[in-house]
Amino acid sequence: MSIANNIIAFRKKLPETVTLIAVSKTKPNEAILEAYNAGQRDFGENRVQELIPKHDALPKDIRWHLIGHLQTNKVKFVAGFVHMIHSIDSEKLLEEVSKQALKHNRVITVLLQIFIAQEETKFGFSFEEAADILSKCSAGNFPGVSITGFMGMATNTDSKEQVQKEFRGLSNFFRQQRMNHPNLVTLSMGMSSDWDTAIAEGSTMIRVGSSLFGTR
Ligand SMILES: *Cc1c(COP(=O)(O)O)cnc(C)c1O
Repeated sequence: MSIANNIIAFRKKLPETVTLIAVSKTKPNEAILEAYNAGQRDFGENRVQELIPKHDALPKDIRWHLIGHLQTNKVKFVAGFVHMIHSIDSEKLLEEVSKQALKHNRVITVLLQIFIAQEETKFGFSFEEAADILSKCSAGNFPGVSITGFMGMATNTDSKEQVQKEFRGLSNFFRQQRMNHPNLVTLSMGMSSDWDTAIAEGSTMIRVGSSLFGTR
């Protein structure tokens, strides 16, 4: 199967309410262009150093999603063009994104990364911390950002029940917070191994790499 065929076949499996982010990290520009020529416009990268040359070289109507841990001192390099940052994992980072967005006369769309896995290595806020950030944002503390939802990664495990439980917890939190914050519209959860479970639990955005581009 070619990348173009993978993209087309994958999109057919998805409900219209779900946005597919093609995770192109470590893949060359040619692979991205192949997906682009099959109609894909949303791409995900996890490293700023890799994202910048790709943004420079590739078509300007690509919507670049930053999905990996972002260091505060690198925000300035992407603030002018990034479409969405999924990986806001500290208040300090949110403040910096807001500041750099205003310098570029933009409001950057971001998601709060929520820690839902039973693993020690993953970044993210607890539900309590995220609720606190949303209140501060509603109070006007971060004028350069629009928080439109949450991102979460489930535990890397063969247990579908475990993954389902973690996604369900985040989905419940999302629906609960939406009652007070109607601009929460995006729930970014699901990757190659667990996207179908994520969608069953209410995901609106899946981040898929290896199933589209092959293993890394
Ligand atoms: C790499 C990555 C993905 C995609 O993973 P695949 O297993 O290749 O689909 C999704 N989300 C994040 C945050 C990633 O770093």
